Amino acid sequence: MKHKISLTLIALALTGSMALSSCSLVKPSETTEETTAASTTEATMTESASESTTESETEATTTTSETTTSETRVIEPITPPEKGCAIEFPDREVYDYKMDLKFDPKDQTIGGHVVFDFYNDSKDTWNELCLRDYPSLFDSEKVYATGLKKGGGLTVISNIKDSRSGSLSHKRDGSDVSVVWIDLDKPLAPSEHMTLEYDFVTMIPNNPDRFGVYGGIYNVCNFYPILAEYVDGGWSHLPYISEGECFYSEISNYHVTIEAPKAYTFASTGSEVSSDQSGDNLIHKFEAPFVRDFVFSTCEFYEKKTNKLEGVDVNVFYSSDKPAQLEMNGVVDVCFKTAETSLKAFGDAFGKYPYADLDIVLSELAAGGMEYPNLVIITNDVCHDYVRMFRSYDQLEVCLAHEIGHQWFMGIVGSNSAAEPWLDESITSYTELVYYEYVGGKQFENQVMGYTSKDWDMSALDRDKDENSGYYVDSPYSEFATDMDYVSMIYGTGKGFCYQMEEAVGRDEFHGALRAYVHKYAFTNANTKDFLAVLYGVVGRDNDKLNKIINNMLRTKI
Ligand SMILES: [Zn+2]
Repeated sequence: MKHKISLTLIALALTGSMALSSCSLVKPSETTEETTAASTTEATMTESASESTTESETEATTTTSETTTSETRVIEPITPPEKGCAIEFPDREVYDYKMDLKFDPKDQTIGGHVVFDFYNDSKDTWNELCLRDYPSLFDSEKVYATGLKKGGGLTVISNIKDSRSGSLSHKRDGSDVSVVWIDLDKPLAPSEHMTLEYDFVTMIPNNPDRFGVYGGIYNVCNFYPILAEYVDGGWSHLPYISEGECFYSEISNYHVTIEAPKAYTFASTGSEVSSDQSGDNLIHKFEAPFVRDFVFSTCEFYEKKTNKLEGVDVNVFYSSDKPAQLEMNGVVDVCFKTAETSLKAFGDAFGKYPYADLDIVLSELAAGGMEYPNLVIITNDVCHDYVRMFRSYDQLEVCLAHEIGHQWFMGIVGSNSAAEPWLDESITSYTELVYYEYVGGKQFENQVMGYTSKDWDMSALDRDKDENSGYYVDSPYSEFATDMDYVSMIYGTGKGFCYQMEEAVGRDEFHGALRAYVHKYAFTNANTKDFLAVLYGVVGRDNDKLNKIINNMLRTKI
C-alpha cells in the first residue's frame, strides 16, 4: 500500500523527535499528537481521497478476515533455510495472462485483448467468476485539487468468452462498480481448467497518484479486470481503499505487449524483452513470471538509468521535463545505493530477490511511495530541492527501502491486504529496521528509537485491566474508526510489534523465522495463522516474553 509511514516520519522529522507514542496502542476515536500531525500532512497530500465511490464501510459478501477460521494448527519444528538462501520459482502450474494492449496518450486510454488461462484452485465448484475492475471507481465528473477534471470512467468490458461454452455476459455489483460478476454457463469444477477471453478499454484519469496521469507521467496500475481471490467458500471483494489497499490476487505468469507512440519509455513489472516498430508506434513486449499483478509507468520524457546490483537490473526512471532535473544525479545515486543495500539486507534476512529486474519510478504520488511487483513508485517530492531543505535524502532512503521490502511481503508472499493489513504493512515497516540493522551505527539507533521495549513494553500490556485497550495489530482495515488510527496502528505500532518480537527471540532467530515464512509461502497467499505457525515452529512456544507480546497485540490465536 501507499507508504503512509513516511508521512508519519516526515511529521516526526519536522518536529525533531521520534515517535515514542507511535508504539502506544491507538484506541478507537483517540489520536496522538504524532498521528494528528501525520494525518494533517496526509490530508494535504491526498486531497483526492474522495476518488473512491465505495469507501463506505459496506460489508462485502465474504468475511473481512480469514483469521476467524477455526482450523487447528499442529506446530511442527522448522529449521529455517540458510541466511541469504535462494528463493526458487515454484515448479507448479500458475495462472497465465496474455495481454495485447494499446496505450493511447491522446485519449488517455489503455485497453486490448486478454487471454486468461486458469483453473479452479478451490474445493468448491464455481458457478460464477468475480473480477476486480478498480479503474471504474475513478469518477469522470470529479475535479481534482489541481483544477483538472479527473477524466476517468467505467471500464468497457466486452467480447467475454469461455473456452468451454462460448460467449458470456457480465454485470457489475450493485454496491460496488469495481466488482464484476460473470455467470458461467458451464460450472467450473475443482481443478478444472478454462480460458477466459475478454476485451477492455480503461480510461486513465488526471490524477497524480498510483493510477493516473500528471505532469506527463502515466502511472497505470491495477488497470485491467483481474480475477479476485476465492477464499473460504466465497469470492473476496472488499471495498477499494484510497488510503490503503485491498489488492488480493494469485501468482500468475504475464505475457504482455503494449503498442505505444515511439517517444514513450516504459517501466513495468517483469522485463521488457523486445520493442518492434509498427508504423509510428513501437510494440513493447514484456515477460513477467510469477507475479501477482502487472503494472507499468510511462512518460515521453523518462530518463532511464540502469545498474546491475546484486545480480538484479535496477532501473531508475524520472522525467527530464522537471525543474528538479539538476538535482537528479544525487537522487539517482541515493536510489541505487539504497536499492543495493536493500537487496543485500533483505536477501540475507529473507532470501535473495528472485526476479531479474527492479524498477524505481520517481513520480507524482499522493503518498510517499507505492509498491507493485518488480516496480516501486516514489513521490517526486523527495527529489525537489526546495523540499530537501527541510527533508534530507533520509526520507527517500527509508521510503525506498520500505517499498523494496514489499517485494518480499506483498510480492513474494501475498496476503489479504484489507483483511489483514499488518501482514503487508506492519512487517514491511519493520523491514525498514532490518535495512538499518544492516547499515548499523547511529542511523540504526535513530530509526529504532521509539519502537523498542525500553520505550514501551508490549509484553506488559494488561488488556483485562483496560477494557478499552485499543485495536489489535491484526485488525482489518474496516475496523479502524479513522485513517489516522489505521496508519498509526499498522505502520507505527505494528512496526514496533515486529521489532519487539525480534528483541524477544533475538535478531538471527527472528530473521530466520521470517526467512522460513517466506520460504514456505513464497508465491502464495498467507494469513496470520500461517505466520504464527512458522514463527512458533522456528522459535518454539516457550518464550514467555514473546508469548505475552503476541497475546497482547494479536487477536489471532493458534
Ligand atoms: Zn507499505
